[in-house]
Amino acid sequence: MEEAKDRLSVDRVCGECSLCCRVLRVDELDKLGGVPCVHQDVGGQGCSVHTQRPGICRSYRCLWLSGGLRESDRPDRLGAVVDVVADGSLVRLEIRSLLPGAFESSPRLAAIAEKYRSSMPVRITDVEDVLNPDHAYRVLLPGGEEHRIEGDRTAIQRPGQPVEYRRLSVFERAFRGVLLGLRRLRIRRSRSGPRRVEAPPPR
Ligand code: SF4
Ligand code: SF4
Repeated sequence: MEEAKDRLSVDRVCGECSLCCRVLRVDELDKLGGVPCVHQDVGGQGCSVHTQRPGICRSYRCLWLSGGLRESDRPDRLGAVVDVVADGSLVRLEIRSLLPGAFESSPRLAAIAEKYRSSMPVRITDVEDVLNPDHAYRVLLPGGEEHRIEGDRTAIQRPGQPVEYRRLSVFERAFRGVLLGLRRLRIRRSRSGPRRVEAPPPR
């Protein structure tokens, strides 16, 4: 009932939350996911280039801001940014927490994941996976199935069955190698200094 009522709350504003400015990637600024944005105001709230912020910052709306979660689920309180991500024709729920283990210690995040996993995969990760491509993450699927992915290996858990282990095929490993190469490039660019938006002149 509470969720049905909150879905009607279309007038949400980010308020004191700025979690996506820390957790998400912004290619226009060479900002890696998990790294604080150079334009975050002191204290981490607000954007010092609000009127000139990149297009992705203008258009981004997490699931809470879109009215898809309870009023009390604002991301800075949940400790995670939750959104629906389209990857080609595939759609998944993405839960990206600021701290490792935040999902495991949050009954509310677990409840959100349970609600969505019957209709789409739920990917659970944290900002630690930015610089470590082998950092483990979880994918929850319908019927209680769960994949734990670490590097090129996946442990598949199904209720009442022994854990099955899989390794990516040669082709998949080659594709992963390309993706890792692109990630290393982004990391190198980011380390050589983030791009900045020119701040508006003081009035
Ligand atoms: S995570 Fe959501 S609520 Fe928080 S600043 Fe980003 S869009 Fe706004
Ligand atoms: S430019 Fe502004 S809105 Fe965009 S990530 Fe940085 S602080 Fe956030």
